Amino acid sequence: MVVMTPEATPAQIEAIVERLEAAGVHAKVMPGELTTAIGAIGDPEGVREMGLEGLPGVDQVIPISRPYKLASSELSHHAPTVVEVGGRRVGGGETFCLIAGPCTVESPEQTRAVARAVADAGASMLRGGAFKPRTSPFSFQGLGYEALDILADVRAETGLPIVSEITAAELADRFAETVDVIQVGARNMQNYGLLEVVGKLGKPVLLKRGLSSTLEELLQAADYILKEGNGDVILCERGIRTFDTAMRFTLDLGAVPWLKLHTHLPVIVDPSHASGDRRLVGPLSRAAAAVGADGIIVEVAEDPEVALCDGPQQLYAHDFPQFARDVEAHASLVGMALA
Ligand code: PEP
Ligand code: MN
Repeated sequence: MVVMTPEATPAQIEAIVERLEAAGVHAKVMPGELTTAIGAIGDPEGVREMGLEGLPGVDQVIPISRPYKLASSELSHHAPTVVEVGGRRVGGGETFCLIAGPCTVESPEQTRAVARAVADAGASMLRGGAFKPRTSPFSFQGLGYEALDILADVRAETGLPIVSEITAAELADRFAETVDVIQVGARNMQNYGLLEVVGKLGKPVLLKRGLSSTLEELLQAADYILKEGNGDVILCERGIRTFDTAMRFTLDLGAVPWLKLHTHLPVIVDPSHASGDRRLVGPLSRAAAAVGADGIIVEVAEDPEVALCDGPQQLYAHDFPQFARDVEAHASLVGMALA
């Protein structure tokens, strides 16, 4: 919507209409008592980039339609998206998905032990980092392909589908072969080339919200995957940067009901990376269930003190059964059962 100033002349209004139409945008002039508005019907980003606000007679340009398209519940005529992974359902409001496992795959024994513990306690899927996006290049970067092999072996033993993060486009074929849910981490949410590659792999994608990304940006990132023909996208709120440094990040729980209003995609929460503190993971997980999330992804270790990455936020494996029961109880309050 282009709002003209009260002093705008008919010639200035006509000039804007001509400019819009020359750019392939349909223009509808709506004269008001004080000012005239021009409805610009077309690509909102394109209209914004035309720089109309600097032209004579223009007061302001106000976007009316939403910037995300395929992820929007406004345009989708279908029911909420349900992503099926090895018989588990993510989304749809009936099942709560509990993804658990170590931050990083460190050895077959460590991964197997955690996987058994979480499988026995009712987890739906196993998480485990193979390629780690570390802030410092001198930190442990993950076991790479070896870790993917370990995850595949542990899946065969436990039956748990595996979730692991892809960090570069050249890993795509191997991830498509091995991993059940391909995670795009917070740091890569705006790596649009990677999103397009992942969108072509035909595997469910877990897309985490960027450290400082708005929810509209998250949904536009999801559009990059959806437009490649892959509808199986799970969104993840994992905490954002705010002025408060008490916790590692600030978990934006309001994001869950907001996303539920604005997108048909399933939404899960990562309380581990958000808080950075295992003592907060239980309450935040229960809150995630209460606020309507479709699941959570949590880090668990047998011996977090010696973990090579993210020790302080990983739940003790021996605490996981009680943790899972508490989360399940909260999910059941909103009519959901563990997937
Ligand atoms: C992770 O889940 O292992 C991870 C690195 O998370 P994030 O991208 O949210 O920081
Ligand atoms: Mn981690």
